[in-house]
Amino acid sequence: MNEAMRKVVQKRNDLYGATVVANLQKRGFTAYYVPDKEAALAKALKLIPADHTVAWGGSVTIDEIGLLAAVKEKYRTIDREKAQTPEERAELMRRALLCDTFLMSSNAISEDGQLVNIDGNGNRCAALIYGPRQVLLIAGINKVTKDLDSAIKRARQVAATINVQRFAPLPTPCCKTGLCMNCNLPESICNQFVITRRNNHGHIVVVLVGEDLGF
Ligand code: SF4
Repeated sequence: MNEAMRKVVQKRNDLYGATVVANLQKRGFTAYYVPDKEAALAKALKLIPADHTVAWGGSVTIDEIGLLAAVKEKYRTIDREKAQTPEERAELMRRALLCDTFLMSSNAISEDGQLVNIDGNGNRCAALIYGPRQVLLIAGINKVTKDLDSAIKRARQVAATINVQRFAPLPTPCCKTGLCMNCNLPESICNQFVITRRNNHGHIVVVLVGEDLGF
């Protein structure tokens, strides 16, 4: 894409992002639009108080903008990857539910401001619903869909079918074909479906970024 066309795309993303942020705010979310990943990192770091203990759910986005590396350097963290045993890992995941700031992205966001997330273990969705003082959710504009139905479709057919490849090989149909076939296998990574239609506890802060991030 040449520079002139890149500016045209950015102009549309800026307009669209502001519209979606306004819709998120109507549902009680604290929401901000930033144009790119550099601005997203700066905004996220401003939103995390220095004395917060930070944990996170699986997210390519928070890694892609450099936030994961920055919080590991600057904050006290609960990092399940440091666990030496499965029991310790499970305990760290439980502790993460009571952290000060929990970082994640969203599998999809509907244009009218609803979050859609699918989880295998459920720890990411659990933290989103209740527990951390603050959930800081960073999402690229590629996660926004026309309506709630298309957000659910995106979460299932795009996010989950790509995410499953991180755990390959699994016996799920998506792992072998790239398609979601609505499986009911013990190895399914789609056990919890959470639609957040309002931010009733006031703990969720959304930073919507005007470029594609994650999947
Ligand atoms: S096939 Fe099963 S594991 Fe794969 S995306 Fe669909 S429901 Fe999830």
